[in-house]
Amino acid sequence: MSAGIETQLFINGRSVPASDRGTYEIFNPARPTELVGRAAAGTPDDVEAAVTAAHRAFPDWAALSYEERGEMLLKVAAAITQDMDEVEDRARLFTREHGKILRETRLEIGRLGERFVQCAGYAERLEQDEIIRAAPNDTIITRQPRGVAALVVPWNWPLAILGAKLPQALMAGNTVVVKPSANSALAPAMTLHRIAEMLPPGVVNIVTGSASRIGDALIGHPLVRYVNFTGSVDVGRHVMKVASENITPVTLELGGNDAGIVCHDVDLSGDAFERLYRAAFMSTGQICYAMKRLYVHKSRFDEVADGLRAVVDAQVIGDGLLPETTMGPMNNPKQLKTVTDMIKEARAAGQDVHELGQVPDQALYEEGFFQRPALIFNADPSLSAVREEQFGPVLPLIPFETEDEAIALANDDPFGLASSVWTTDTDRAVALARRIEAGYSFVNAHGPSAMDNNGPFGGFKKSGIGRNFGYEGVTQFQGLHSIAGGPGTLV
Ligand code: NAP
Ligand code: MG
Repeated sequence: MSAGIETQLFINGRSVPASDRGTYEIFNPARPTELVGRAAAGTPDDVEAAVTAAHRAFPDWAALSYEERGEMLLKVAAAITQDMDEVEDRARLFTREHGKILRETRLEIGRLGERFVQCAGYAERLEQDEIIRAAPNDTIITRQPRGVAALVVPWNWPLAILGAKLPQALMAGNTVVVKPSANSALAPAMTLHRIAEMLPPGVVNIVTGSASRIGDALIGHPLVRYVNFTGSVDVGRHVMKVASENITPVTLELGGNDAGIVCHDVDLSGDAFERLYRAAFMSTGQICYAMKRLYVHKSRFDEVADGLRAVVDAQVIGDGLLPETTMGPMNNPKQLKTVTDMIKEARAAGQDVHELGQVPDQALYEEGFFQRPALIFNADPSLSAVREEQFGPVLPLIPFETEDEAIALANDDPFGLASSVWTTDTDRAVALARRIEAGYSFVNAHGPSAMDNNGPFGGFKKSGIGRNFGYEGVTQFQGLHSIAGGPGTLV
């Protein structure tokens, strides 16, 4: 077996090992004895060096014009997406360390590049100050970058999520320290190295390693001026507490338990069931804004249940590197257990549970962190699969009678990330979406394949604070600064 690849930290323009030379191993979730590689296990000293480098690099980076930074972002986008051999190698490595299918790891790399291009495109708009001419003063309202931003990325969509915060932070004029997740660090670290080496030293620094060792050192560092965290509610709460020590502002993108509402007038022709399938099961269901509860008008319930069951049952579960595989393993045993426990609970309660999909290699299925995709029909609202974030391949379907009831059910949840409305009547879709407590709503789709990066994305309630993506995703990395002077004296 190969010893796998080894990735390093990147601090102040150089690729370096951890200060104590420590590394940790990453295994393939489809074949958990297969070592994929080792990542540097950063230390608090490494965090100190990375934050100091970012702090030193900040004034020069912030002094560049938006156009100049945008040009560099475009070069970065080209470097990470245009060499198709490199993209393919990286996607394969990413599938091996993460589990998700090759089509999705390629997609993520592409998304990261697109998001750099998109942020570069905001240059002209960002250059505009607002000017208020009124007695007793004229006021220029300008925005300025915050300084060093700490960017924390989870394992589930590590590159696409990096694309929700890294190009935005850079375009806004900040320098950064990025901490990828220990569960998927190799492809993100390699990609980040590629990015960091194209920019002035200190602008992008990378510290991989165990969060329990370096998390607080980074978030609580007095020179970190902004924290952008994506992950779970529990860790988000902790991050907020640690950041509060220095009154460091935070953006938190946390979990979700997204409701989909299928109305009586839904069009189920064409690829509708494929869209419903992808909404819930893409990336083996490990998406913060996957559809996690499906409310179906009772007049269409059987039709939706039967159609969805057929599509889910046609999926091929296996190693994500194989071209025939359409659903890979889950990423880690902890997440797998959450989902298998939910399915067990539903079965024990006598619920109508269907574990579906084709498993060509049963031995592999038993070896890896696999779970066949499951549907629970007429799910009892008290089930954990309904009440909690499953973050895996199980979807409860629940009938409703009136739209008021569907809205009440959708909103009866501590999360408020995304949602979807499935109907042929767009006015109905928009009217219903406006009543849902969510930061993002889709119409007749749900999830990454339907997301438009121009809209701000984030959640209400326990789904978090702030918004990534869009123009607002850039300006969150800046603070407002008003400059006042006598009438007619400033501009
Ligand atoms: P997690 O356990 O909260 O970890 C998220 C990130 O935080 C990882 O990089 C983790 O590092 C790091 N971390 C842990 N403790 C930390 C600390 N004390 N200080 C700083 N960083 C720390 O979440 P996960 O299991 O990776 O991801 C699953 C969760 O993320 C789900 O709840 C999902 O809904 C949510 N999520 C939300 C969004 C969104 O946009 N709203 C997107 C994707 C995922 P280690 O991995 O090294 O521990
Ligand atoms: Mg749920």
